[in-house]
Amino acid sequence: MNARHEPATRMHTTSHETEQIVDLVLDYSRRRMLSDDTPLDKPSSEAELTRLAGRTITERGIGAVKALSVFEHVLAPACITTDHPQYLSFIPTAPTKAATAFDLVVSASALYGGSWLEGAGAVYAENEVLAWLASEFGLPAAAGGVFVQGGTLGNLSALVAARDHARHLLAEAAASASGDAGGADAPTSAPPGGRWKIVCSAEAHSSIASAARVMDVDVVPVKPAADGMLRGDDVRAALAEHGTSVFAVVATAGSTNFGIVDDLASIAELKADYDFWLHVDGAYGLAAMLSPLTRDRFAGVEHADSVIVDPHKWLFAPFDACALIYRDPEAGRRAHTQHAEYLDTLTEQSEWSPSDYAAHLTRRARGLPFWFSLATYGGAAYREAISHSITVAADIAREISSREGFSLVRDPQLSVVVFEREGWTKSDYDAWSARLLDGQKAFVTPSSHAGRPNTRFAIVNPNTTFEQLVAILDTM
Ligand SMILES: *Cc1c(COP(=O)(O)O)cnc(C)c1O
Repeated sequence: MNARHEPATRMHTTSHETEQIVDLVLDYSRRRMLSDDTPLDKPSSEAELTRLAGRTITERGIGAVKALSVFEHVLAPACITTDHPQYLSFIPTAPTKAATAFDLVVSASALYGGSWLEGAGAVYAENEVLAWLASEFGLPAAAGGVFVQGGTLGNLSALVAARDHARHLLAEAAASASGDAGGADAPTSAPPGGRWKIVCSAEAHSSIASAARVMDVDVVPVKPAADGMLRGDDVRAALAEHGTSVFAVVATAGSTNFGIVDDLASIAELKADYDFWLHVDGAYGLAAMLSPLTRDRFAGVEHADSVIVDPHKWLFAPFDACALIYRDPEAGRRAHTQHAEYLDTLTEQSEWSPSDYAAHLTRRARGLPFWFSLATYGGAAYREAISHSITVAADIAREISSREGFSLVRDPQLSVVVFEREGWTKSDYDAWSARLLDGQKAFVTPSSHAGRPNTRFAIVNPNTTFEQLVAILDTM
């Protein structure tokens, strides 16, 4: 049959063909979700993928059976299984069964998560999760925000709101000085020093520098103490030097490299003497505030003007989700609401529209898989699962420091353990890491600190055991 004669509705109607496609995909998903032995897998070269997958996009289509088979047997095995217990690089992911399963429901339901008008039910559930997190972090009941794609966009959106807030304060001050009441509506003022600045630890995540580049503002990196913690006194010196051109201080609640939590309380205390927006980047680590084992490390976060935490890291949600929470959501809304004729019907309403709280418009209701899992299992199960990884990290850290030829680079605070194998060069780590992945034993990548090569275990998967980690040490 000529393609031109196929009905336009073939792909959209319920038919024998579409039923088969849905069954095929659900069956595959079911097997993958309930499998306990999905291999670690590893990347292949483009040439190899071209050889095995060939050309899959054609004018007539290759059919769902063939396309799924290419995915299952060629493409998926060329993707590392990020929720594998021996995936210990970067920050892994470990979605719960419920969260992963519900991600299918989010897609199946064609939900629009951008506005209350279109997605009230989804927005209600996402907001309940955000309120629960805010209350865990000690933020006021009025706090709120939105789930965005990831920590990078969450940090950027928070910092844009922070600068907008600083501009408003400047404009207000200028207006009251000149008696011009209209000034506060025109937040265009530049800071006294000429350029806006963000103060953060020299060990802050690369996304802070990325946000600064996008915003065309400067970063003032402050060297933390040898233990990696940024403290109020270090920040005070930077504030004294750069004055009112600093619109935000970013504290890290669990650095990506080491899982070190800055001294949030002493940094927050500086608010008594200086005007700045305190943003807490807890993309990886803030989840550990749910565990009684580490809750105290986060004292002071309750003074933050904004925080982020990534459910796709240590809150067991599938990619991709970052919870961005403002102390005063109105500051986020003022900075981010998009105005357009076709949107007036949304922006003229007072209901909560998630689109208004970050640099985005159309959005997947990406907080719902986390909502479903949290609603299903309850908070206690999360505390338990997070505590488990903290305990495993402490146990393997003890093992490392007692082993001949091994040493910790720093004592772990949360669930990242960084260590050195005595005498190893960068190429020793490289070769060892490649061997581990090649042999499908583990995915552990080399890292470095202060110019010295090392490696690290980042543990967020409750299925990761002490014994598995010991077996990896035995290969070094
Ligand atoms: C992972 C991480 C980010 C970036 O988050 P993405 O979701 O990868 O964009 C930012 N800050 C910290 C501390 C992180 O660990």
